[in-house]
Amino acid sequence: MNRRPRRLLALGAVGCALATAVVGCGDEPAAPRPGRYASPDPGSVNTYWIEAPDGLVVVDTLRTPADARRAIVRIRKTGKPVVALLLTHSHPDHVGGAGAFHRAFPQAVLYASRGTDKAMREDRRGFYPLARSANPRFPTELTYADRVFEDGTPVRVGGLRLETARFTDGESDTATVYYRPDTADLFSGDLAGSGVTPALIEGNTCGWLRNLTRLSARFPDAGTMYPGHGAPGPARTLIDEQRRYLRRFRALVRPAVAPDSPQGATVTPGEQRSVIAAMERAYPHQPPVADLPTLVQENVKAVARELTEEDPTRVPAACAAPAP
Ligand SMILES: [Zn+2]
Repeated sequence: MNRRPRRLLALGAVGCALATAVVGCGDEPAAPRPGRYASPDPGSVNTYWIEAPDGLVVVDTLRTPADARRAIVRIRKTGKPVVALLLTHSHPDHVGGAGAFHRAFPQAVLYASRGTDKAMREDRRGFYPLARSANPRFPTELTYADRVFEDGTPVRVGGLRLETARFTDGESDTATVYYRPDTADLFSGDLAGSGVTPALIEGNTCGWLRNLTRLSARFPDAGTMYPGHGAPGPARTLIDEQRRYLRRFRALVRPAVAPDSPQGATVTPGEQRSVIAAMERAYPHQPPVADLPTLVQENVKAVARELTEEDPTRVPAACAAPAP
């Protein structure tokens, strides 16, 4: 037994629970839970602020400057300075508000991993012009990191040490998660959402599933996960739910692209409707992560493309399993 559980027992469960609510158990002040602002649906996305010894550390910056300004009002109410801004990945809904945050908190240093910074500068998939055409409030110019760190190396911000890990070729081409060891808080970006309809449009659900396996193994002690979309929750539960969702989606699309299905590898409108209806039955009324009315149809197309290109003899175990 390590020192902390032993001390909890020594103090007595009730007294300790009361003490923890205010100042922590024993002589250790409890770390306050991170603050969260979720932009409105459709396409709700989160920003978080962590209380660090030297001020607040913000994780992700929302989709637009207008969304960011609403979060900034909340953050200012804490009366604490923002010392750093961290990005999880380059998708427009996480970086579009960076300029507004930077103007509001000019002393805060904007951090991104080398992979995320490169992805923002190259925009290989043309996501930013797409975001601008879909939402006129998306900024005309991006705000890039002040400081770039090597993927996978710890970052020290505001007196905190956060571990980082890089995940490639999954939900996004490259993504960073941030882990705070003293509280076991995991800021997972879009590696696992919570009760939301994800975007599968990059057509890499198998890579995403493998990333989820790696994520569990890399941070086995993670307690609460703070996802990019949806409410925070137990890390293991959110990872398992994301895994189930992706496997189910793949299992539903697979018969629609089978050679002996109507029109073979082409997904017919009827097949698409039946996949969407089955997902809606399994996950009723889950809000989408993007403000894109055709998100689920695009997801079916992307997963169909991915499955058609997969070599069935070389599909990794993480992706081959049927929906539980
Ligand atoms: Zn997102």
